[in-house]
Amino acid sequence: EKKVLASSAKDLSPSYDWFQTDSLITIVIYTKQKDMNEDLVIVDCQDKQLRGEIIMDDHSYLVEVDLDHAVSEDVAVNIAEKVGKVEIILKKKDNVHWKNLGQPSEGHNTFIKRTDRGLFYRKCKLVSKTEVTHDTKLFCLMLPKGTHLRVPTGQHVYLKHIIAGTEVVKPYTPVLPFLPLDFQEPPCHDGVHIYLMIKIYSHGLFTQALDHLQIGDYISVSNPEGNFKKSQVQTSEDLLLLAGGTGFTPMVKLLNFALTEVSCLRTVKLIFFNKTEDDILWRNQLEQLALKDERFEVQFILSQPSKDWVGKQGKISPSLLSEFAKRSRRDSKGLICICGPAPFTEQGIQYLKDLGYSQEEIHAFTA
Ligand code: FAD
Ligand code: NAD
Repeated sequence: EKKVLASSAKDLSPSYDWFQTDSLITIVIYTKQKDMNEDLVIVDCQDKQLRGEIIMDDHSYLVEVDLDHAVSEDVAVNIAEKVGKVEIILKKKDNVHWKNLGQPSEGHNTFIKRTDRGLFYRKCKLVSKTEVTHDTKLFCLMLPKGTHLRVPTGQHVYLKHIIAGTEVVKPYTPVLPFLPLDFQEPPCHDGVHIYLMIKIYSHGLFTQALDHLQIGDYISVSNPEGNFKKSQVQTSEDLLLLAGGTGFTPMVKLLNFALTEVSCLRTVKLIFFNKTEDDILWRNQLEQLALKDERFEVQFILSQPSKDWVGKQGKISPSLLSEFAKRSRRDSKGLICICGPAPFTEQGIQYLKDLGYSQEEIHAFTA
């Protein structure tokens, strides 16, 4: 019986093959999984190092070799989504015949739990830094030419930087360059730039170092992580987003995804908690979006408003939530996503549960 199990497990794990022409090297990965897509394939090719990782649920398949000969930085990735075939196409620098693909690394051709794989980082160039509010900036990072990486909706990356001789790592959630108002087209991913909206704390270890980066400097960016599943939204009629401060960042791609690609959604509400009016991120864009799309509504709630604030004030509370978490129809299917300071998220979840929402109806973005 053991033998049968071993062989069936082997049949399920991905495999690879490679072939060459005069000018190209093609590596073909058979994932044996039907729903492959761009988000699940991460390729890095620099100098002679090739690393291709395929994400398959909580597992990861890796092709990692020190290539036999040099290749150019132009790497093409083709995905046959329905048959689960992934092709990585490399251009030879010299038109010579390769005897083998190269020297495999220790993790080459392994199919293991993602948590056992360890994060891979590549250096990205800071190409721009623009002000969003008095303390928050939009950082635009450029992926290296030989990298193919998309950060899925609801996931974050880790930035790594050496500060005073010590490696420091912090998570950040990529956003879009702006909130698209025109929902005709699917989200604009150029596949090259990663946008991060980051609040600079005056005593913050990492954010102070980030703020001191110059345009053209490099910073290490990891593969994406996170347990949010788009399918949670795809089956919902009402979507409620509760954001506190920079807890807004996961809501950016989520909003765009919901309004662009989820046809069953009837209402999308963002309740955005901030200290003061000056702290509200992308207020104008959010108000424009609410005018443009009748499914979308935004409410700003301030915990430290000035005297002239006529809008809502306070912190997250059962009464506020019971007002906003109403379903559009008595039995409509809802999803509530929450992100912000840890006490905000914890209290929010508790209040929602007290109001009768189940664990399955709530998604909290945490580390
Ligand atoms: P630290 O050195 O850790 O803190 C130093 C001081 O800064 C604190 O004593 C305090 O005075 C101040 N400070 C730090 N954090 C807070 C806080 N939350 N509230 C009030 N004061 C604070 N941040 C973003 O800006 N954008 C993102 O997209 C983003 N995504 C994240 C995704 C995940 C999954 C998680 C867990 C966190 C995310 N964060 C994000 C927070 C980020 O990871 C850092 O915690 C943050 O940038 C502070 O790092 P620091 O080293 O500068 O501050
Ligand atoms: P902030 O201090 O400006 O607070 C924003 C609002 O959150 C406040 O106005 C208040 O309404 C609420 N709030 C703050 N502290 C609270 C508390 N103790 N109890 C109840 N409500 C409270 O927030 P910030 O400085 O922008 O920090 C944002 C937080 O979001 C950070 O802690 C960051 O780590 C977290 N974050 C997490 C993720 C994630 O886990 N995926 C992503 C982005 C940001």
